[in-house]
Amino acid sequence: MAAANGNVFTPTDKTSPTNPCPPAVVPNDVYDKFRKLLSDLLGSKAGVVSDIDSQVKGKVPDDKEKPVSIEIEVVTKDQFKTQYANDVDKLYPDKTADQLKNDAENFFNANAAYTYITDNLDANGVQKIKIKVFCKDSLRTATIDKSPLLESLIHELVHAKLYTMLVLGLTDADLPFLDHADKFFGEIKRLFDLLKKNLELSFSLPFENSNFFLVELGEDHPSDGVVSLDHQVTAIFETQSVLGNEITFKWINPSKEIVRTEIKPLELMAQDTFVPNSPGHWTVVAESLHMRAVVASFDVPFSVIPESPIGIIVLMASSLAALGGFMALRRSKGTTDW
Ligand SMILES: [Zn+2]
Repeated sequence: MAAANGNVFTPTDKTSPTNPCPPAVVPNDVYDKFRKLLSDLLGSKAGVVSDIDSQVKGKVPDDKEKPVSIEIEVVTKDQFKTQYANDVDKLYPDKTADQLKNDAENFFNANAAYTYITDNLDANGVQKIKIKVFCKDSLRTATIDKSPLLESLIHELVHAKLYTMLVLGLTDADLPFLDHADKFFGEIKRLFDLLKKNLELSFSLPFENSNFFLVELGEDHPSDGVVSLDHQVTAIFETQSVLGNEITFKWINPSKEIVRTEIKPLELMAQDTFVPNSPGHWTVVAESLHMRAVVASFDVPFSVIPESPIGIIVLMASSLAALGGFMALRRSKGTTDW
């Protein structure tokens, strides 16, 4: 079946027919639904695997093309720790088994799923790739809504696409894009749209439905973008996506200095609060490894209450301008220009 669907990029469903997760975390019927969605995604009607396969073949020289096995499995934390430590120990000779298990635990805690290149060779001498989906709340909530699960699985398939190119001899410089780069998220959207069209699904990409907005203390609606000096502001991020379990908030003052960095747990919503202490244009960034960063901004006027009609007009104009840029989406690249 895999051969008919793709012959270089060959993901295979290695999930157990019986639920490996504690039923309190992932009930059996939800697990069965997960396997059905995975099978739909990998099926030829979805067109996703064959699309990625042809893209890999477009990048890898003909004489280097070989089938690459990509094994997809659902695992508990303990299973993942043991498997990961065994799968990569030759790739990290400097790390002890305990260190690798510790890395695995961190990956498990921070993500809904994880994709990696192993040191295991297949019959052709090609390194295997594994996609591990974790027995966590995220698996249950994502499956119930379907679209977060498909986003999550496509995200991992895009990692696997890049890793397939790497194990067939390409270098980072040859790749069409890197993990979590701007084009990485563009590729997820492209494949998600392809899946939607081919399977006639109606839902949209969960991340595209995320919201990031500011609320001022004492108010119950999003800020108009003008905040009084020393007035508390809460930044709120809401998403249907399950890709990350934590999100970092950064508050950047008018001198472009990061004055607060705070990591908060993300369970469909996360928030952070700050009191701006200088006038000017402020920016708040929320970022997570597996999602595009989002940015909101606000202005702290020098004088709180404008005394002339001209002052009021200027204030309104700047407030409208702030609203215009309110939901601008951008990705952090590590080095950022706010
Ligand atoms: Zn990722």
